[in-house]
Parts: sequence; C-alpha cells; structure tokens
Amino acid sequence: MKKRVILMGPPGGGKGTQAVTLKEAMKVPHISTGDMLRAARKAGTELGKKADAYISAGQLVPDELVNGIVAERLAQENDGFLLDGYPRTVAQADALEAAGQAIDAVVLIDVPDELIVSRIVGRVSCPGCGCVYHKETMPPKTDGICDKCGGTLVQRNDDREDVVRERLAAYHKQTQPLVDYYGKRGLLVTVNGNASVDEVFDQIRKVLEF
Ligand code: AMP
Repeated sequence: MKKRVILMGPPGGGKGTQAVTLKEAMKVPHISTGDMLRAARKAGTELGKKADAYISAGQLVPDELVNGIVAERLAQENDGFLLDGYPRTVAQADALEAAGQAIDAVVLIDVPDELIVSRIVGRVSCPGCGCVYHKETMPPKTDGICDKCGGTLVQRNDDREDVVRERLAAYHKQTQPLVDYYGKRGLLVTVNGNASVDEVFDQIRKVLEF
C-alpha cells in the first residue's frame, strides 16, 4: 500500500471528504493545513492572527508560515501520512522535498470549475471531527448535527461565493503547476472527482493499492 500520500485538487473537490474515510482505511494521520490554520486562528496564536486575513480573502497564506508548521508535524510521523491541502505552491513542494520527505503518490481529484461553486456554497462541516456534509447532496441525518460525533455543523466563512472564486483563481495560478511538477517525477495519479463519494473512494483505493 502507498502510505505517504498527497491529496491534491481544487477547493471543494472532495479532498476533505475523502480524507475522513481514507485515513481510517490506511491507518495514517490526516494532515490538513487548512484545518491547522483554522485551529491556530481559533486559538488566537501569532500564526492564526497572521493567517486570518489571507484565509478570509481566499488567498494562500505565505509559504514560510505554512512550511514551518508542516515540517514540524511531519517530523513526528514515520509510518505514512495523508497530506491534504499541502503543498499548494511549487515553493512548498520544494520545501517538502528538501526536508527529505519521500512521497509514494500524489492523488489529483479532478473536478471541473463549474461544479465547484455549487458544491462549496452548500457545504457544512463539523469542527469536532472534520466530517463534511452538503445541505442538498449529502445532508446529515439531523439538520445541523454531525452524524458521527453529534457536533454542531458550521459553514466556513471562506465558503461564500466571492471568496470561493478567489480560491479557485489561486488554485489555478499557484497550485496547478504542481500537476506538472509531480507528473515529471512519476508520482501523479488522477481520479475523476465528478462522481459519487463512494466511486471516488474506490478509484483512490485502487491507485493506492489497498
Ligand atoms: P482548505 O481548508 O485546504 O481549503 O484551506 C483553507 C485556506 O487555508 C486556503 O484558502 C488558504 O488561505 C489557507 N491554506 C491552507 N493550506 C494552505 C497552504 N498549503 N498554503 C497556503 N495557504 C493555505
């Protein structure tokens, strides 16, 4: 099984949703820089304060802030990881490589832009366990309550349509070059994200060989 894995794809492409089931199936930690930055913002740390304006505007947080927290976190892992939302720029991918982190696979969840906005605008998630729902296509059993842990579901403040469009622009400009970067290294596998959650999971399971 490939265990040192990067999940890549546009915002709202299903990375977080897949990560929740993948981390259990693969028995590896789910490391999401978005979750780490939101936790820092909530805790009011220096990092959180610096990151806040970028996140709210739908822009990427500067590389040097993100590289530091990921390097620290990955240094604690020696039996695989599922990286979600990192790297997002070529400079971040270079930093990961320079840190000597071997990667087994980069899974690109490919979703056309026109689907992204409707997916994100209906999205709610559980701050407790990270489960993600969609008000129309994947509603929780009880409105506003997490099926898994009973937490209260919330909408992210960067899931507004205007901010989503900024995030998509950042993805195309800054993150998409990584498709080539990892393609050249023979690590990139692309799955079709325009499918049901189970179908996407099944495609990922096959490419990660478990
Ligand atoms: P996500 O939850 O992955 O969609 O991330 C939410 C926001 O956190 C992004 O729009 C960025 O502002 C910030 N962020 C998350 N990961 C990174 C990263 N690797 N580099 C820069 N900014 C990031």
